[in-house]
Amino acid sequence: MKHILYGILTSILISFGYVANATAAQPSPQCAAIVASLPEHRCAETEFGIILSEAPFPRELVRAIGRGEKQFAAAFGQKPVRYLAVFTTSKPVPTDLPADIARLPVFTWSTKGAASALKAISHGKEAAEPSEDQILDVNLSLYPHELGHFWEEQVYNPNASDHPADGYGTKAPDWFDEASAFLTEDENSARNARRIIIGEYYRGSPQYQANFTANIDQLLAEPHPVTKLNSTAKKNTAGKDAKITNVGGSAKSSEEQVVIIESAADGLDRPGWTSRVQIFKDYLLERARGKPVFGSIMAGYLEKRKFEEWLAQNGAQFHLPVTMADLQKDWEAWFTIRYGR
Ligand SMILES: [Zn+2]
Repeated sequence: MKHILYGILTSILISFGYVANATAAQPSPQCAAIVASLPEHRCAETEFGIILSEAPFPRELVRAIGRGEKQFAAAFGQKPVRYLAVFTTSKPVPTDLPADIARLPVFTWSTKGAASALKAISHGKEAAEPSEDQILDVNLSLYPHELGHFWEEQVYNPNASDHPADGYGTKAPDWFDEASAFLTEDENSARNARRIIIGEYYRGSPQYQANFTANIDQLLAEPHPVTKLNSTAKKNTAGKDAKITNVGGSAKSSEEQVVIIESAADGLDRPGWTSRVQIFKDYLLERARGKPVFGSIMAGYLEKRKFEEWLAQNGAQFHLPVTMADLQKDWEAWFTIRYGR
C-alpha cells in the first residue's frame, strides 16, 4: 500500500515538474510506466535520457543533464543516443523494466561518489559529513561530465573493448575524451572550475605559468594522469583509494576517480593535465563560434588522421590556424588576452 501511494505521489510530483519546467523536459509517460513497476525508484526524463534513481534526484540535476545533452549536440553536431541512466547506491540495475527501456544503453553511477570525493579532498582531516548542498554542487558537474564520456562512447565508439589500450576505450586520444566530458558540464560549475584553475595559474611560479600554455602538441599526445597512475596505484597500499577499473564513460561506479584526478597535479612547476585540457577546450569552442568542432575532430580520429592532419584540412573551417606551430601561437595569444596580465 505504502509503495502504491509512494508511486502515485512520485508520478504526480514528476508530472508537476514537467508542467512547471516544460522547456527542460518533456512529459513522460515512460517514467509513469517505470515508476508503476518500480515504486522505490524516482524517474525523470530529459530529451534523450531516462534517469532512474533510488534517492531523490534534484530537478536542478535533471536540468543540468538536459543542458549537457544540448552542449554535446552543439559541439559535436550529433545528438546523444537515447539512454538509461541509473543512479544507485550499490544495487544492480533493475531488471523489471519495460522492454523498450530495457533495450537502451545503460549508464550507471554510484550516488556515494560525491560524498566520498569531498571527504577525500579534505585529506583525511576529520571533516564533517558533506552537506546536501555540497554534494549537489559536486554532482552538478560530475553527472553531466560522466554522461559526456558516455555519450561520446555511445555515439562514436559503442564497442569500447575494441580499444583496450586507450584510457577511455575510444578511438580518440585521452585529451579529446576528457575535453568532450568537460564541455557537457554545467556552466556554473565550469565557471567555478575555471576560477580555481586560473587562480592556481596566477599563484603559480613563472615556470608554472609558462608551462600552462607550452607544448600544446605534447598535451594532445599525453595519456590521462589516471592512466599513468594506474599501474603504480594498484601496487600501492593506497590502492584502495585508487580503484581504477574504468576511466570515464565506461566507468561503472568508480567513486574515487574524481579524487585521483584532483590529486594528480604534477607538481609546483607543472600545471595539471586536466586543468590544461579544460582551458584548451574553451579555446577550441570559442574559436569555432558555434560550429561543431568536436564532431569534426572526432571524425578525423575515426579516419585515423592525426590531429595535425585534421588541423591542416579542417582547421580553417573552425577559424583555427592550419599548422601546429601556428596553433601554438594562436592558443598562447588567446590565453594572454583572456588571462594574461
Ligand atoms: Zn572525465
